[in-house]
Amino acid sequence: MSCLTAVLLLATSAVYATVAPTPEVTLPLNKWYHEYDHPVHALFKRGAVGDAVSYSAVGTPEWATGFPPGVPDTASLPQAWVDALNAAVKAGKIPDIPVSTGSNGMNPVYPTGYDPMSPTVCSSTWKCVIPGDLWDAPAGVVGLSFDDGPLPPSPQLYQFLANNSEHATHFFIGTNILEYPDIFMTAFATNHDDIAVHTWTHPYMTTKTNLEVLGELGWTMELIQNSTGGRVPKYWRPPYGDCDTRVRAIAKEVFGLITVIWNQDTSDWTLSEPYPAVSPEEVQQQMTKWLTGPKDTGLIILEHELSDKSVKAFMDAYPLMVSNGWKRLSVAQLDAGPAYQNSWNSTSQVNPAMVGNSTIQPPTLSNTSTTKPSGTSATGKPGSSGAPDANQKSGATHFSVASLALTGIIAFIVATAGGIIMA
Ligand SMILES: [Zn+2]
Repeated sequence: MSCLTAVLLLATSAVYATVAPTPEVTLPLNKWYHEYDHPVHALFKRGAVGDAVSYSAVGTPEWATGFPPGVPDTASLPQAWVDALNAAVKAGKIPDIPVSTGSNGMNPVYPTGYDPMSPTVCSSTWKCVIPGDLWDAPAGVVGLSFDDGPLPPSPQLYQFLANNSEHATHFFIGTNILEYPDIFMTAFATNHDDIAVHTWTHPYMTTKTNLEVLGELGWTMELIQNSTGGRVPKYWRPPYGDCDTRVRAIAKEVFGLITVIWNQDTSDWTLSEPYPAVSPEEVQQQMTKWLTGPKDTGLIILEHELSDKSVKAFMDAYPLMVSNGWKRLSVAQLDAGPAYQNSWNSTSQVNPAMVGNSTIQPPTLSNTSTTKPSGTSATGKPGSSGAPDANQKSGATHFSVASLALTGIIAFIVATAGGIIMA
């Protein structure tokens, strides 16, 4: 064996030791939340921070390019999203129930024969709970989550959270991120809080068609991914808590999202309205009742960063959370898992999803050194190696992991050979 061959083998094994083929991985630690055959891996597969992927700086014109300014046009959705939806429908994963109507401040109404409390529809607005959705926190825990940002009232909330070393989940509206990128970055990059999905334009989601639901969720996920170094959101909260089996299934089966509702609502979102449903005093009375009450079901309180008054409602109630011994956790923390589908939180490593034409298996932290199997897809599933490149939808620059691995091998050889020569 020549010296160069030995170096090549060493370099190759060094690379593949970090990309061992064990697709049955689970987070934590450098894994995706879902199995590797979930459609979300093909839809949002750009890579890890530091992997030479080029993300436009948040707030620049390039960053905002391509995103709809308002309600997404269903005729111009990325084809990969539509294909994934159609595949899920064809596989029987998306319940075929009609859209609801008449939801303006009222519970949604379904056509005759579709009971919103039935297992077929199971409307969360009607308080029907679908197993697997998050409504409650563990005993003794109050979940810290805020809806509707980023908005001008948000920074005072972020400062308060930072001052108290608290960590929260922000269910953001896509168009608000476009409008307030600096405030977004304070939540993500300064506070390192968890970023989650609250749709693109905040509609009653059960009134929307499958394609409309696709656009509302997909664009928000895409923008959050582009703005957080590649992190794919894991949680979403339907505006007004309006979800049913159909909408929930699209979120889960196409985008891998977990639906988060709440178990207490102060109606703080009305505080800034001309005719609020509650006064600030009434909000505090409710908060006091819950925070001084039994802890055997934890609290997920619906709260908003929508107005100065709604932010103040949280800040005023916060001392009671502390003095009564409540553990304050983000949604991901109370769910005892990662905040993103491919990253533990807003500072940890992002795990790239190597699907499509890559012939290299997903990376793991396993010490098992193995050689690369040839001719198989990254998912190990037949037929997936020819999956369309979802990255085409945004035109973002990216590099395949195969090319990165090859670059690493070459760099290693050059470095090692240089060392040998110099020695
Ligand atoms: Zn909302």
